[in-house]
Amino acid sequence: MSQPLIDIGVNLSNNRFKEDLDQVIERAQACHIQQLVLTGTSVEETQKVIAICEALKERYPGRIYATAGIHPHDADQINSEKLALLSNLADSDSVVAIGETGLDFNRNYSSTANQIAAFEAQLELASIKKMPLFMHERDAAEKQIEIITDYRDHFAQGVIHCFTGDKKTLYRYLDLDLYIGITGWVCDPKRGEELRKIVADIPLNRLMIETDAPYLIPKNMPNPPKNRRNEPAFLGYVLKGIQSQRSETLETIAQATTANAKQFFNI
Ligand SMILES: [Zn+2]
Repeated sequence: MSQPLIDIGVNLSNNRFKEDLDQVIERAQACHIQQLVLTGTSVEETQKVIAICEALKERYPGRIYATAGIHPHDADQINSEKLALLSNLADSDSVVAIGETGLDFNRNYSSTANQIAAFEAQLELASIKKMPLFMHERDAAEKQIEIITDYRDHFAQGVIHCFTGDKKTLYRYLDLDLYIGITGWVCDPKRGEELRKIVADIPLNRLMIETDAPYLIPKNMPNPPKNRRNEPAFLGYVLKGIQSQRSETLETIAQATTANAKQFFNI
């Protein structure tokens, strides 16, 4: 299959890509992963992913973009100075969405109050800048949906990236007119058991795909690398994992997810 794909969530500023970033991007291009959206997870990481975009933009024009955000794990860093920095970073040419932002009550690396404050500040930022939202949520669907509902009239588009929730949560996100990002969880028969049952319920015009590399290596890879590092070149396995649970062909799903991502990020 040679349909171009778009990886909407790659953590390329992660140390695990330090040694061979160029090869990682070349391999992605060779595998028709035509465009990448690098995830900004804190002010510092957002600066790093923007720098990667800048460094590569001549070699790969129109191929590599970034988000600007503060991940719920990093929400304790929230203050007015950081928010002002984030707002400036969001104006950079490479930045196509606000996030990753949201709530994570699974690990609670940052306090609940700070997670909520950081999330609301970024919802406001997205409204002011008229940018789409790249959202994360783990074990916090109730509160996340409550907050999104309050702000829903103020931002145009949002995606729940790496969706791993249950059927009820999926339908509530769809009712809020959000997109759903699917990662290699769908390729894992054990951990992804519930997701595999409901992935066919996502309307094709609401679906996007992502590796979340270097995390979540797809379990359906016949010969995974020894270091278990995921990378954008493996995005096709996420597509295969989704297709195995749906009635459409790989080509149809590829075409739809690429069109959705192009429209969503305006890339
Ligand atoms: Zn996430």
